Amino acid sequence: MSQPTYIILLGAPGAGKGTQAERLHERLGLTHVASGDLFRENVSKQTPLGLLAKSFMDKGELVPDDVTVRMVMERIARPDCARGVVFDGFPRTEAQARALDAAFAREGKRLRAVVLVAVRDEMLVERLTARWSCPTCNAVYNLLSNPPRVAGQCDRDNTPLVQRDDDKPETVRRRLEVYHQQTAPLIAYYRAAGLLREVNGAQSIEQVQAQIVQAIEEA
Ligand code: AMP
Repeated sequence: MSQPTYIILLGAPGAGKGTQAERLHERLGLTHVASGDLFRENVSKQTPLGLLAKSFMDKGELVPDDVTVRMVMERIARPDCARGVVFDGFPRTEAQARALDAAFAREGKRLRAVVLVAVRDEMLVERLTARWSCPTCNAVYNLLSNPPRVAGQCDRDNTPLVQRDDDKPETVRRRLEVYHQQTAPLIAYYRAAGLLREVNGAQSIEQVQAQIVQAIEEA
């Protein structure tokens, strides 16, 4: 079997990483690993990890690196990740990026590309506050640009849609600050490693997807 493909989607909250990662899953068969979804699953099951994570998530802060790295590494070791992974929301700090590099070096794995989905802050705030998602399958909708077929219901499984607690305006602002302080430095980190590709995330979902696929194919 060929080497698994590992892609990172980098970008601020609301840039569309989750939507794009779901489509990459359908198109290229890569498993979508979203650290935020893993934390939310733990929160809803009230695991010890979930209780710890919730205290950070509610404030728009990052969960500590060590627990985040352990959770993501356990996830990508599962058999459904054998063909490859699209990381969404991970890594989010330089320490996480270094931990991922070290783990990949130990295991003989290679990152294929890091695709930055670039969107300016005003648009991010607009998108995040219009975002609703399905608590069953994690599908994400936007009431303005990507509404569900039936108002308030998931297209796939008819579950009533919910708004995330951390998509409230004050928390959104804090999450964007945290992105600029702690995650944006990864742009330089991966550029220096020769892995960074950039796409304009302010286009339609289809246009962004086409550019991401092109960026991966050229990597
Ligand atoms: P997201 O769904 O990616 O916006 O993540 C929601 C929240 O989960 C973030 O605001 C953080 O509190 C937490 N989180 C998700 N991914 C990470 C990560 N890689 N490192 C630390 N905290 C994270």
